[in-house]
Amino acid sequence: MPNEFDATGFATRAVHVGNGTDKDSGAIKRPITMANSYALPYDPTDMNWSSADGNLYTRNGGTNQKYLQERIASLEGGEDCVVLASGVAALSGLFFALLNQGDHVIFSSVTYIAVYRLLHELLNNKFGVETTIVDTSDPANVEAALRPNTKLIHIETPGNPTLTVSDIAAIADIAHRHGALLSVDNTFASPYNQRPVELGADFSVESLTKYINGHGDAMGGAIVGKKAHLDQIRAASQVNLGGTISPFNAWLIMRGSVTLPLRMRQHNENALATARWLEKQPCVSFVAYPGLESHPGHAVAVRQMSPGYGGVLSFGLKADHDTHNRFVSYLKIVTSAVSLGHDESLIVFLGENDERQYLYPVEFHNGFFRFSVGIEDIGDILGDLKQALIQCGLEVLE
Ligand SMILES: *Cc1c(COP(=O)(O)O)cnc(C)c1O
Repeated sequence: MPNEFDATGFATRAVHVGNGTDKDSGAIKRPITMANSYALPYDPTDMNWSSADGNLYTRNGGTNQKYLQERIASLEGGEDCVVLASGVAALSGLFFALLNQGDHVIFSSVTYIAVYRLLHELLNNKFGVETTIVDTSDPANVEAALRPNTKLIHIETPGNPTLTVSDIAAIADIAHRHGALLSVDNTFASPYNQRPVELGADFSVESLTKYINGHGDAMGGAIVGKKAHLDQIRAASQVNLGGTISPFNAWLIMRGSVTLPLRMRQHNENALATARWLEKQPCVSFVAYPGLESHPGHAVAVRQMSPGYGGVLSFGLKADHDTHNRFVSYLKIVTSAVSLGHDESLIVFLGENDERQYLYPVEFHNGFFRFSVGIEDIGDILGDLKQALIQCGLEVLE
């Protein structure tokens, strides 16, 4: 989707791409078009009713969706983009459109739970798609899992919830040498810190619900890649499966995305400061954050993430199960809730009985926190953690 802002910087594109003057009113912000249908030509008999080009019916696409697609394609550095109703609609739409019975998929051992369910249970059991789960933090594991029918490699980096890092360029190279495609879930990094398509991936998938909207008030998903692939996904998964985003949510995400660069700068800075502070605490058993030198994927993260490492980290406490819940109950600024990438800090205690724990490094086996560090003042975030740890009777240093 070439546009007049291609030569400008990331922050300029986050403001301008997809915006324009409304022809009817002269408003310098484009309006929300809540119509389900658009006017037909004089003789509609030759229309392709499943076309996603032009404006016909909002399930097939509409103005607000198109503006948002232009912006996300530009920020991710991709040729084309499809936006759908949620991150999971984007992931399932990608898998449904690309995979056929008998195809083989390799996917990373750390992925969003719905990816595990979609690939390893639904597509596998119901539709005969073969799947192999590998620890993609070592590209050699990917190479070893290839089969003649491997169609797709799907990785998430940094991965939710362990922050495992996988080398996008190395895995893209392996995929392409064997005629397979690579998709990368880029939700944790956001395009501000990492652009998988520029690193050689065929697809970058985003939950727009998280950093790109950034305000915790709308859901959406995006797939970025080559137009030929995306036309296929649009036809199969938007028009015919119907995972269309509402024009209002597309508009909200468009507005939220304007400040993505500003917010990400603060998320990066606050998360690194929080990770460093937690790492010093005697009561903390481990901290997983790709920006820390102690992270096993730090060197790869330095190569493929810039200028920062995102706002999510995970950590454990040297404490029993109930102390973890008490700690959360004492927090006043940090909110206990799922999701991530919101303006506010969010924490979730992932207990000991997650069915996928066997796929995670051993330090994650006793229960841990996933912490999405918000854009509040860092002194208030650290102060909140500190007072809650002290109330739990745990040892805290400055
Ligand atoms: C939240 C999330 C998703 C799913 O996105 P929804 O918008 O909730 O459907 C996918 N991948 C990752 C890494 C996520 O964190």
